[in-house]
Formats: sequence, structure tokens, C-alpha cells
Amino acid sequence: MKVLVLGAGQLARMMALASKPLNIDVRAYDVGSDQVVNPLSPDVSYGDLSTGIEFADSITAEFEHISHDVLAQCEASGKLFPSSQSIKTGGDRRLEKNLLSQAGVNNATHKVVSTKAEFDEALDTLTLPLILKSALAGYDGKGQWRLKDLSQADSIWQEVDTFIKEDTSGQKQAVVIEQMVPFDREVSLVGVRDKNGKTQSYPLTENHHTNGVLTVSLATNEHQALQAQASQAFDKIANALDYIGILAIEFFQVGNSLLVNEIAPRVHNSGHWTQQGADTCQFENHMRAVCHLPLGSTALVRPSAMINVLGTDSVPNSILAIPSVSMHWYGKSKRAGRKMGHINVSGSDRLELLYRLQQVAKQLPAADFPEVTDYINGLQ
Ligand code: AMP
Repeated sequence: MKVLVLGAGQLARMMALASKPLNIDVRAYDVGSDQVVNPLSPDVSYGDLSTGIEFADSITAEFEHISHDVLAQCEASGKLFPSSQSIKTGGDRRLEKNLLSQAGVNNATHKVVSTKAEFDEALDTLTLPLILKSALAGYDGKGQWRLKDLSQADSIWQEVDTFIKEDTSGQKQAVVIEQMVPFDREVSLVGVRDKNGKTQSYPLTENHHTNGVLTVSLATNEHQALQAQASQAFDKIANALDYIGILAIEFFQVGNSLLVNEIAPRVHNSGHWTQQGADTCQFENHMRAVCHLPLGSTALVRPSAMINVLGTDSVPNSILAIPSVSMHWYGKSKRAGRKMGHINVSGSDRLELLYRLQQVAKQLPAADFPEVTDYINGLQ
């Protein structure tokens, strides 16, 4: 079987690696160069998008900010999974919010705003503090403003107004203004749905962010009540989209309730631990789903965690001497803040996992892993 992935980054690479044992041949469409490339050696080119579509039995995506023309071309081939509507919904917070309300899934109180009058009305009806997020092409904390006090309103509006007017996406830009949720934790659920509508979810993952970017994920399978809540939300959302493939949902946990923050119609950074911690990793299950193969078990085989490697191309090799520690580099050139790789750590139980995480954290340079050691040492 042959799969074309839209996007040629680390997610396409890890999908290709997971596909090899299944004899699934993966090529990746690099939207920057408009070339289809080998996801494991991106300097090897196979031609343009049409050639890639021709090659593939199935087409999928590793990110949601893909031009609508490209999505339309792929959808017309009848090979695109998930659908272009699912991918677009992940890339536009307005569509995402509509989906959540249609599916009856709890999320933060919000308003969509593109004019000063709408902004003023939102300030009258919403309760401070607020977070403003660009509707299109904003992720990992980019294109966001926080409004804590009404005295900030004018200056923030000026920035937002410029941001909306300078947008070059060709689609109408706006911001979604949300009430800040006083959450206890951020968690996510990665799940998979096949072409027959069968769904399976991985254990809920606890996520720690530093400056709006994921730095550590922890999966221990200890949250049964929340797991049921999250899986229900997954089923509602995935069914509403008639989704095929892996879909990730990020939640805010407030007490014993979950509110959806956002969805990602693809394999997700908070599911990287599944490579060592789950029966079938998220990359393989995505490929199975989009190739219409039976899904693999999403059961946790051992408590596991992931530490993101951001902006650095080296970590002490000595961490590999710690049992059940795996290194996954993405083969990218170094740039500040760039996702360069991740470290997976597992243990036979939570205690062993936390002990090993602490051993790893001790060896990681604090400058390259800000807050990570504090977070890990604070886990109990
Ligand atoms: P996002 O790009 O929507 O994932 O937001 C980036 C980060 O900002 C999230 O991981 C949260 O830590 C924080 N955040 C986003 N929306 C809210 C909200 N409504 N209330 C509180 N924190 C938020």
C-alpha cells in the first residue's frame, strides 16, 4: 500500500517509520517546495503534487494549515482521509467552535470577533480575564493575546486589528475571544476512528506546557472517570466529522470536568509516548485507519512519558543508559524553539516511571529544558 502525507515534517517521518513493517510505502508532500519527497530523506524528490496523488492509495495530512486548493485537489481523488472538512476544522477556530457546539461538547465561553463593534460587545458580555486567539493559523501559543484588565483593551485591539488586516491567507481572518478557564491541569486524548465508525482511545495524557509549547506528556492510565468523559467527547467529535484516522483533543480539567480547548485532526505531540508505552503506537494506528486495515489495540502496556527536545540538537548520551529511555531525533537543522526530537521514558509502574524521569531530568541541561526538571520533580 502507498500513502501520501501532506506535510514533510517529523510527523510524516514517524508515520513512515511506523509504516515500514506493514509494507506501507510513505511519501510526503512538502508544501514549501511544492515537491513530493521521501519523509526519511527529504532531499530525495519524486515530483509534484499530481504525481504524489497518482502514486498514493490513500492521502493523509500531518498538519491542518494546508491550502484549500491542495485539499480540494486531494479530495477530488477520493483518497483523502480524514476529509478536507475535518482538516479545515482543525485549522480554523470558528469551524472548531461550531463543531463543538453541534456535537454538544463543553468548551470555554467565547465570541468570534473581527470588528471593533464586535470586540466591544464581547467585552460587555464575557467575563475577564480573556484570551484572544487568531481564528486561522495559530498554534503553540502564537497569534494570542491575554486581556486581564479593561485598561489593556485599546492597545490589544490595535494589535489585533492590524493582525486581522495584514492577514495574507486569502481567507477571512478573525479572533476567537475566550474566557480564561481556571484549569487544574491540561490533558489530552488521542483516539482513532476507522472507516466503519469504530473508535478506540489511548489513555488520557497529562500535558505540561512551557511558554505555550508542550514540553512534557505523562500517560499513566489512572483517570478512569475522566477517561470515560474524554472518550465520549472523542466519539461525539469524531462521529460528527465522520472522521477516519487519529484525532487528538486537548482539554482543560476543572475539578472533575473536562472542557475542550482544541482539536488536532492528525497524530499529535502528546501521543508520542505511544511509541514505547502503547500496544500499537499512534503513527501505526493512523496508517492502519487511513489504509482501511483493522485498528491495533490502544491499550497502555506500561506507564510512559515524553519530554520534547526544543531548539537543541544534542542531549547527553548518558540518558540512554537509564532503562526504558528512548531517543527520537527528527533529523532537522537547529533553530531556536524548533521541535528537534523527543525522549520517551517508561516504567513498570508510576513510581518507577517517575524515578526514571527524575534520573533523565537530572542530566538534561536546564537552559535547554526550562521548567522541565521542576515539573518532573513536582510529580507524585
Ligand atoms: P492553544 O493555542 O489554544 O492551545 O493555547 C495555548 C495555551 O494557552 C494552552 O495550552 C493553555 O495553557 C492556554 N490557554 C488557551 N486557552 C485558554 C483558556 N481559555 N483558558 C486558560 N488558558 C488557556
